[in-house]
Amino acid sequence: MMTAKGPLRVFYIADPKLLMCCDAVPIIRHRACLTHSLITAYGLLDKLKVIPSVSASEEEVRKFHSEEYVDFLKTAEVNKEDVSEDEFGLGFDCPVLENMWMIVKQIAGGTLTAARALVSRETNIAINWCGGWHHAQRDSASGFCYVNDVVLGILELRTKFDKILYIDLDVHHGDGVENAFLFSPKVVTLSLHQMEAGFFPGTGDEKSIGLGKGRYYAINIPYKAGISNKQFIHLFESILYNLCEVYMPDAIVCQCGADVISGDPLGGANITPEGFKSAIRHVLNLSKPTLFLGGGGYNKINAAKLWTLVTASILNIPLSPEIPEHQYFPHYGPSFELEVTAGLRKSENTEKSLDDTIRSVQYNIEHLAVLLGKK
Ligand SMILES: [Zn+2]
Repeated sequence: MMTAKGPLRVFYIADPKLLMCCDAVPIIRHRACLTHSLITAYGLLDKLKVIPSVSASEEEVRKFHSEEYVDFLKTAEVNKEDVSEDEFGLGFDCPVLENMWMIVKQIAGGTLTAARALVSRETNIAINWCGGWHHAQRDSASGFCYVNDVVLGILELRTKFDKILYIDLDVHHGDGVENAFLFSPKVVTLSLHQMEAGFFPGTGDEKSIGLGKGRYYAINIPYKAGISNKQFIHLFESILYNLCEVYMPDAIVCQCGADVISGDPLGGANITPEGFKSAIRHVLNLSKPTLFLGGGGYNKINAAKLWTLVTASILNIPLSPEIPEHQYFPHYGPSFELEVTAGLRKSENTEKSLDDTIRSVQYNIEHLAVLLGKK
């Protein structure tokens, strides 16, 4: 998009406090700094407009989260000894953190800052790799997520944009976001994820389509372990364009969970950053105001590589395949290469299983088309 002052710059949300708060979550310690340092080392900051995040207010966090849960988050740290296992989802996956309330507000604030930049039309694309906490529910923490910044960001975008498309590429089902908008025809949630017995969170089959007025506005594309680049892109492009023709979103939020990349200790997909970039190109092809968020990603080096590559891809800048010298350079050994190669695991998805999934999702999109008077 051009303005009298030239093309709009891509906004990139980062500041030391936001990075520190994101890095305070134990399972992804240092990940935000690794990512930001690699983006910096490749010289991409010069091409971005770097925006510091503004911490969310209590009132803003309460726009989605329940009164009881917010009260709990505010006081849990002080009452740490009295917090019982699983109270408000706090426990094994989501331990009580030091400065928890401050961290929650900062993480929510990063995505709200990005969403506001899109609402004010200062930019068409905003990136917050410290966001994407899609599992947090209205009244509980879940799957390492304490606050659902995605939902808060979508609510902010809704102040300007009528119809939002949420795309969730994380290897896990975007359950918290789907549940938040389960009854809403103003937000389509589209989640591609691994789904099989025992795989977190266990929801998101293609028959979960939303409820009430939101029926047919939730779209789930489950796949089995070992999905390849080719299969993933086939699934995504078979649904995305058809859906957008029917729904015609005004803005897009894309959660880029890096746990979908090969070699993730919690994921089971076999996608490479190059494959993931093809999905991002499809999202960019839609030419809508878009908010890109992070998410899962427990191989922290691969997460840093992916998000650096996606940032460069959004900017249309090629990157040298060799990791540049910088503070965290030794972490990238022994290859010191940006590339992540696919693993050897065989995909459990077959052409037939993928086609069956596509057919059943297309059937649901037909229903959506009827609801919207397109058929
Ligand atoms: Zn995940």
